Amino acid sequence: MDIAAGLSLLSQASGIVKDLREIDKGFDAAALKARMADLYVTLADVKIALSDARETIHDRDRQIKDLEEKIVALTSGELCPICNGGRLKAISVHAHPHLGAAGVQEKTLQCESCTHREMRIHDPEGRLRGKK
Ligand SMILES: [Zn+2]
Repeated sequence: MDIAAGLSLLSQASGIVKDLREIDKGFDAAALKARMADLYVTLADVKIALSDARETIHDRDRQIKDLEEKIVALTSGELCPICNGGRLKAISVHAHPHLGAAGVQEKTLQCESCTHREMRIHDPEGRLRGKK
């Protein structure tokens, strides 16, 4: 269930309360009991709907956080695997010694914080994956 279902149930519960007020005027014990039972069931469903909605919001918050971290990684370089503090920045890009003719490049990344350096194969045209 979602928030819309919860709100719809809540409006249903309000309708039952209105009915209960009407019954109170004429006082019919059996009708009162039946409507009270309906009210409890509806309120229990509202509780489930709101609890589901809370979980959905929690999941969305986690997804947003993951996406924010990915955006930071994509726009400022990935986190260094050695010091876990600095970001890896490309310091050189050149044609790969063997696959350069096919458009494959070799990229050297260096951490901003420590001395860690690593080579990456960069394949902008996707030749290594067999595309084109
Ligand atoms: Zn580092």
